Amino acid sequence: MRRLSGTGVSSGIAIGPALVVENSAAPVFRLALAPDASERETERLSNAVEASRLQLQAIKERLLRDLGPHAYIFDAQLLMLDDPLLVQRAMTLVKEKGVNAEWALHSITEELHEFFRGFKDAYLRERSADIDDVVGRILLNLGDSAEAPSLAHLPDRFVLVAGDLTPSQAAELDWERVLGIVTDAGSPTYHTAILARSLGIPGVVGLNDATSLIAPGSNLVVDGSSGGVIVDPGHEELEAYRAAQERERLHERRLQETRGLPAETKDGVKIVLMANAEFAEEATTALRYGAEGIGLFRSEYLLGRSREWPSEKQQLDLYRRLIEQMRPYPVTIRVWDLGSGEMDGTHAGPRVNPALGERALRLMRRFPEPFRTQLRALLRAAASGPLRIMFPFASGPSDLRIVRELIDDVCRDLRRDGIEFRADAPIGLTLEVPSAAATVDLLAREVDFFSVGTNDLIQYLLAVDRADPRVAGFYEPLHPAVLRTIQGIVRVAREQQIPISVCGEMAGNPFQALVLIGLGVRELSMSATAIPRVKAAIRAVDACLLARLAESCLVLPTASEIEARIRSELAVAVPEASLEETQPSPRT
Ligand code: PEP
Ligand code: MG
Repeated sequence: MRRLSGTGVSSGIAIGPALVVENSAAPVFRLALAPDASERETERLSNAVEASRLQLQAIKERLLRDLGPHAYIFDAQLLMLDDPLLVQRAMTLVKEKGVNAEWALHSITEELHEFFRGFKDAYLRERSADIDDVVGRILLNLGDSAEAPSLAHLPDRFVLVAGDLTPSQAAELDWERVLGIVTDAGSPTYHTAILARSLGIPGVVGLNDATSLIAPGSNLVVDGSSGGVIVDPGHEELEAYRAAQERERLHERRLQETRGLPAETKDGVKIVLMANAEFAEEATTALRYGAEGIGLFRSEYLLGRSREWPSEKQQLDLYRRLIEQMRPYPVTIRVWDLGSGEMDGTHAGPRVNPALGERALRLMRRFPEPFRTQLRALLRAAASGPLRIMFPFASGPSDLRIVRELIDDVCRDLRRDGIEFRADAPIGLTLEVPSAAATVDLLAREVDFFSVGTNDLIQYLLAVDRADPRVAGFYEPLHPAVLRTIQGIVRVAREQQIPISVCGEMAGNPFQALVLIGLGVRELSMSATAIPRVKAAIRAVDACLLARLAESCLVLPTASEIEARIRSELAVAVPEASLEETQPSPRT
């Protein structure tokens, strides 16, 4: 038995076997084979090697025709296929360790790289790249076989253990088969964490080396509340967790019963609770948990699923379906919030600092087409119901000009083509960059609504990378700068009568949600599964008490003093259990 400790980001307990995914160019699965499966696996590997040999010979022949003697570079790769240090060793590893071919190749490649790095001769050192090329080819050929695991077709129900999951991998993932999720990277506002929460899948992130410490197939307990991961628990421990899992189910059922009750404070202030969603299927979950609309639909996940831009027609159908499902409630679609790697199709890894890089709106001028297609679909869908269009990552009024230009352009085209659309669909901004917060009065003149994206706002205000577990302790939603900034935004929005909501993770944390209400926010959008608990907290307090409390917090100097003040004030009014975002779990 081994205990690991990370950050619990999605409450609940998951129990099941581990599926370990290593992130290289393509994800490499580390699977434990059934005892009698190694022969089939070596055969699979040998078929992939033979397929690679034929391909390399064909390439070499073509090059001989076109380039003459330079075709020799492929001789080196062909020789590698016969090198006992590569394929033969991989075969041995499959047989002796009972692992899948992909994993065996992956670990041998790592060893070979180490070996090549030791050479003084630059030419020999560079042969390291040939190994990657050859192994990449074999992996591709392995991927073509029917038995190849993929994120979209997992072989069984698993606890997923991954280094990092990109949004496109997360979108491709067969979530039905994921019992729980454990990652080396991440923090509570990391995208995979948000997704796990909205799908109600227990998750622990920020473990740093879980992928190397957890053997595939080992039995795992994931405690998304405490951030604990137990590898191969003993009998007693397992039973304690099973009992806790059952208690949770009961608790969840009780919370579900609040669905039909209004989210209203004791003194009658109505709060609108909406759901954040990444997939169209989540509309049903949103309604089941009592959401009164979709406050944030992260449209970039549409791209991940197919790894291609969805067409105007595909988007139109999807947006209309969402409107129909949520009617009479509104649906807020956020325009592509992507990095340039996704835009130019290179899917290139992190640039210097992706959070501060060429992202979202900043890409509109260089890559207008995907935005144009999306806006056409959105404006057309808006003709059939209450659709709101939200632009992320605006940094001030000049960004808004670009947005307006593009919208006007798209409207002109639609009019010219005689297509039905709604020219005055509500246009809003996610306020998540400090410079937008500082110019909110100017922005208010030009938009129909605002939504505060606290996940990024906190990251940028406090200069804390939300995906870096090493600085997770500095990520303080109750930092005075955060509360003061939100208060400033809300004041201006109210003065100028612009609807304002909060769609970051603060909205789904009952404790922080009450603070937001105290600051004057009346609309919150969160993972659907968080709605019942936030509603229970709202129904237990007076809004005027929250306003007084928020006012008094604004003059306190630190997040911990602010938290202590709120806890002591609310201790009587709100039962502790409904303030905690997470559930009590057995002692570990
Ligand atoms: C935010 O930044 O608060 C937000 C809601 O968007 P995301 O988490 O997708 O960046
Ligand atoms: Mg954001």
